[in-house]
Amino acid sequence: MELIIQNLSKTYGNGVKALNDISLTLNRGMFGLLGPNGAGKSSLMRTIATLQEPDSGSITFNDGFNPPIDVLKQKDEVRKVLGYLPQEFGVYPKIDAETLLNHLAVLKGITDSAKRKKTVEVLLEKTNLTNVKNKNLGGYSGGMKQRFGIAQALLGNPQILIVDEPTAGLDPEERNRFLNLLSDLSNDKIIILSTHIVEDVQELCPNVALVNKGQVVFAGKTSEAVDEMRGKVWKDHVKKTNLETYREAMNVISERMVAGETYVHVFDNERIAPHAIEVEPSLEDFYFHRLKVINQN
Ligand code: ADP
Repeated sequence: MELIIQNLSKTYGNGVKALNDISLTLNRGMFGLLGPNGAGKSSLMRTIATLQEPDSGSITFNDGFNPPIDVLKQKDEVRKVLGYLPQEFGVYPKIDAETLLNHLAVLKGITDSAKRKKTVEVLLEKTNLTNVKNKNLGGYSGGMKQRFGIAQALLGNPQILIVDEPTAGLDPEERNRFLNLLSDLSNDKIIILSTHIVEDVQELCPNVALVNKGQVVFAGKTSEAVDEMRGKVWKDHVKKTNLETYREAMNVISERMVAGETYVHVFDNERIAPHAIEVEPSLEDFYFHRLKVINQN
């Protein structure tokens, strides 16, 4: 199973180059698409989901059995194998989950009513919504709405599942539950998780691409991105009054306030000070460091 994106570019009518020669290969499992706001993540997602056209480039999907699908040309074929949870997923507030999911299943082409009933039941169960299936969606919490979003995206058992910024605004418990659900689904699908929450990607995605200003600035294994930073990330405590001078002198990649005190992560090949602590690097260290290096050039 392979989704191959080659040399994809898109400039919007207002002159913004949202995608600038993007090439990526995605396989089965969870793939993290990381990047700051405005990087081009949603533009890329929407293009894969056949909701907008690029100016140039190609996307093909190969499931290993049937002839490959030309994603940009065979839109109907793509829609049969793709589920999408957009960033702004609106629900009809006065309809209950079971009714809406049933309705969406009809639109998806599941015409046999017994089969549809079963599908709806299974999806509500999978997304842990069975006990609230008769409740109006307007009364759902953020996490419940997102899980409903996944239920609708899973109609037709897609091989590719795209989720755009799904955990923004969820409380920690709901976020965990949501991420576990995605992880459970990733055995037999390509799941693209687009987010600016780096932690979500580190926890869940074996592979990651970092996008900035419409370009892929890293694509590879999440573990390799983290390994690249090993032995080079130092934690230091800085007095507020010294912070400005410190920033000028050191390669600070992130700053964090803990109980009113400022702690920094510094990138350096060598120990920056005797009292500095070498930390186990995270994907976040890699992310901030890469973006900093790129923005400096
Ligand atoms: P991300 O999802 O990473 O935040 P987007 O793909 O939404 O990035 O946006 C990439 C860039 O394209 C941004 O500068 C954004 O303002 C611009 N953009 C997005 N959609 C449109 C559009 N429909 N028309 C014009 N500009 C757009």
